[in-house]
Amino acid sequence: RASRIFHSLKPPLPLPPPNATFSATTYALSLRRNSLFPDSTTALIDATTGHRLSHYEVINRIETLANNFTSILKLSKGDTALILSPNLIQVPILCFALLSLGVVVSPANPISTRSDLTRFFHLSKPAIVFTVTSVVEKTQDFHVRTVLLDSPEFDSLTKTRIQIHPPSPLVSPVTQSDVAAILYSSGTTGMMKGVVMTHRNLTALAAGYDAVRVNRKYPAVFFFTMPFFHVYGFTLSFRAMVLSETVVIMERFSLRGMLSAVERFGVTHLAVVPPLMVALTKDSVTNGYDLKTLEGVTCGSSPLGKETAEAFKAKFPNVMILQGYGLTESTAGVARTSPEDANRAGTTGRLVSGVEAKIVNPNTGEAMFPCEQGELWIKSPSIMKGYVGDPEATSATLVDGWLRTGDLCYFDNEGFLYVVDRLKELIKYKGYQVAPAELEQYLLSHPEINDAAVIPYPDEEAGQVPMAFVVRQPQSSLSEIEIIDFVAKQVAPYKKIRRVAFVDSIPKNALGKILRKDLNKLALSRL
Ligand code: AMP
Repeated sequence: RASRIFHSLKPPLPLPPPNATFSATTYALSLRRNSLFPDSTTALIDATTGHRLSHYEVINRIETLANNFTSILKLSKGDTALILSPNLIQVPILCFALLSLGVVVSPANPISTRSDLTRFFHLSKPAIVFTVTSVVEKTQDFHVRTVLLDSPEFDSLTKTRIQIHPPSPLVSPVTQSDVAAILYSSGTTGMMKGVVMTHRNLTALAAGYDAVRVNRKYPAVFFFTMPFFHVYGFTLSFRAMVLSETVVIMERFSLRGMLSAVERFGVTHLAVVPPLMVALTKDSVTNGYDLKTLEGVTCGSSPLGKETAEAFKAKFPNVMILQGYGLTESTAGVARTSPEDANRAGTTGRLVSGVEAKIVNPNTGEAMFPCEQGELWIKSPSIMKGYVGDPEATSATLVDGWLRTGDLCYFDNEGFLYVVDRLKELIKYKGYQVAPAELEQYLLSHPEINDAAVIPYPDEEAGQVPMAFVVRQPQSSLSEIEIIDFVAKQVAPYKKIRRVAFVDSIPKNALGKILRKDLNKLALSRL
């Protein structure tokens, strides 16, 4: 029989020594030199304004910013910078500049509520916040230095190198084991946590992109529909840097805006989440645009339904669907389909370079053979260091160097990975993480609610929506709408509860743990 450990079929990543003293930015820039494309290649396009920056300009700005961050803002290695911004072309430049100094970047959702921000501040303890005019007010209670990315001052920080006298002390070198970034994820259970990525993790990520370099006549032009603060956008900006690609971004996403950008900028690839595949497939607005430059869509972050994939192929026969699977905790891409197997139904592809995996029987802990289902565990140089300040969650998630993904999966006999279900609590609304534990806390704070549990409910447009099971106080006549409104007032819009069912009790095991699978079944039986 086949082995119980699955290895990538690709050669291992040629990584620098673990004690190398350079940042992930320096490494990504060094790989970029392998590119066949000149520095004048466009790196970033703002689809709203049409503003473009070449790779040459981007590199210059990264270096100028890094200089000014030390000389003027006095940022140094080990400081943390919280970034609260929509997708602006300043954001990847900012991240690369901070990383080059060993400043820890912590990008988060700009529509977060004050209570979300309190959690980010508590977890990452930022020394500085980079944000935009429309968001800055929310950050003011925290009394941390703030820089506006949409201000003329920031613009000049990116363009004019300012030397001070006496010069600032030598910048301490960044090593591979230094913390590079903190992104946010609720992991397999509980509240949102800070995922600590090291420069090693990001170096492995960059090396992985270098390994998939293909000979193209002209650079790929990616349209990013996902935010830079999510691991998907954060890591794809490394890809664009390493492979000298062009990235088109849009501050306020709209389907028409994206389609028009494809036409105007010759977009070759869309980076999307499954709900957008549904929209592209169903909406006739696509007929009004010339999409002939499109070669592929890369789709990840939640499961892509087979029907949607089929319908997409029928409508856009010349566009490849490339799927990717990964987690914030694995610095994204763990498995990916390649162009040769783009049309294989249901798989998220084979393991990428440097990744080992096993499928573990959740009941016995035993590693399983191909075609048997179990929890996917992975090991690779891009697995996170742990959750910041949370040794308990870290040791529950990282076991002997393996990352427990909380996903029910199997490999077929050819090494293709299939994601069957989620064993963990996480809900994904349009690709965004929603932690049931957080919504349950709000529900339980209501004086007329005795008990509550939140689970994912399938939804064609969003993938999943949060559904609450609620036990009311005996005399209460609290309604579904009142409950939805009560929570909606306290959370970011994508976290809203969208369905409510009233029950007499919440099923729990002897330890008081909510039996979510029972609730899932109950919800589906009501479909
Ligand atoms: P995040 O950390 O927000 O990227 O969420 C990671 C989780 O998203 C994974 O553990 C999966 O449950 C889910 N996920 C990511 N990519 C895929 C995919 N291609 N197919 C199915 N689920 C996915």
